[in-house]
Amino acid sequence: MLGAGLAKGMRETARNFIGSYLEYERLTTVEYPEEKIPAKETARQFPFLVYDGDDPEAGLRCVGCQICEKECPPQCIYIEKSKEKKPDHMGKMQLYPHTFDIDISVCMSCQICVEVCPFEAIKMDTEFEYSTTDRFGGLLADKHMLAKSNEHYNRIHPTEASAVDAKRKNDREVAAAKAKAKEEAAKAEAAKSKTDG
Ligand code: SF4
Ligand code: SF4
Repeated sequence: MLGAGLAKGMRETARNFIGSYLEYERLTTVEYPEEKIPAKETARQFPFLVYDGDDPEAGLRCVGCQICEKECPPQCIYIEKSKEKKPDHMGKMQLYPHTFDIDISVCMSCQICVEVCPFEAIKMDTEFEYSTTDRFGGLLADKHMLAKSNEHYNRIHPTEASAVDAKRKNDREVAAAKAKAKEEAAKAEAAKSKTDG
């Protein structure tokens, strides 16, 4: 019947409108910015760089490999590699980003940088209040602004972050076991040469 769909839609709107005065759960809007809805665990806005421990500089997981820079569709990541190396979380000497900038005004929140990173170094933040009056530099985030702790990552994405922590712990244990086996093999080889000699 002509107009049946319209009447159905109006009935549903009226039901929700009146219902929102009777049940708080039916109230789908809040008085932002005074009131804010907590971000869902699956929410994603813009990327941040994860660091371990207390020092954002020393603990930064990023090794400056530039994979994310190459894969970012709108090319809003800019990285300059360091000339020297520093130890990573497994004690392996790695390069790090001397410069790591993201132009937040260009980022389209696609998460491709996160998916291609082999080091669990870049993740999506839930922060979205970046409005600024500085239209030329205000939205260019450098590595100091981008660096956030692993505790922050665990707070905003607990399920994902605990799986990452477990994997990294396992990687560390495997690396330590391999290093120990190599050391013992070298010791055994040295002892054998001594006996043979
Ligand atoms: S989320 Fe997408 S657009 Fe934004 S920096 Fe990562 S790859 Fe680039
Ligand atoms: S965030 Fe990941 S992919 Fe990007 S440069 Fe750092 S280590 Fe490489």
